[in-house]
Amino acid sequence: MNVIILLGAPGSGKGTIGEKIRDIAGYTHISTGDMLRENVKAQTALGLEAESYMKKGELVPDQLIIKIVEARLDKGGKDGSYMFDGFPRTVEQADLLDKSLTNRGGRIQHVLFLDSPRDVLMQRLTGRRVCKKCGQSFHIVNIPPKKDGVCDLCSGELYQRPDDSEATINNRLEVFKKQTQSLIERYKKSGVLVTIDSNQNAAKLSEKIIDYLKKGGKIGTAAESFFCVK
Ligand code: AMP
Repeated sequence: MNVIILLGAPGSGKGTIGEKIRDIAGYTHISTGDMLRENVKAQTALGLEAESYMKKGELVPDQLIIKIVEARLDKGGKDGSYMFDGFPRTVEQADLLDKSLTNRGGRIQHVLFLDSPRDVLMQRLTGRRVCKKCGQSFHIVNIPPKKDGVCDLCSGELYQRPDDSEATINNRLEVFKKQTQSLIERYKKSGVLVTIDSNQNAAKLSEKIIDYLKKGGKIGTAAESFFCVK
């Protein structure tokens, strides 16, 4: 069982890049944010508990997150290859993931840290629009839908996520700094971290990442210059 982790602040491109890697390279994409939103939509007990945290841009308690991740891993995935998007986000979650992987005979192959400047994160998040029906993401400037407010894929209505308001984004970025950023150092120390400048075209960047993964994390040049990190 092999695991890739997409690590990055809100708006760094984890979702967009994760979907492309899933489609092309065949990893099972596990987004804790998406799973939580599905639970909120279905008004499950978990969704009702998580919703108040999500609205404020706070993290949902670790025990709830670990429960949904374990349940998802129990279901299995294609070729035992998983890509986590937005998980782990705390030291406790990272510890529990390590334990869970040891029990399942799995390992973390790569942690891809998607790095973008704060003003880019803000612009991406405030302009994001999501389809109510199929969940496809658009951006009013970067990836505009063909018809205003309408999904290109399923004609569903586009909406702005309630946590994509400027005040909540500020809090989410603060939460990333306080609770998640320390994981960068942790994974750097264990030798699995690759820093990637995610302030570049998502389609081209995804191709580079897929190329990198296909070569087993080996590329002919330093990862930093391959992924354009100054
Ligand atoms: P995302 O779609 O990854 O930006 O997540 C949206 C929101 O879901 C976050 O702001 C948190 O409230 C919650 N969330 C998602 N993943 C996690 C996680 N691993 N730990 C705690 N809360 C999470």
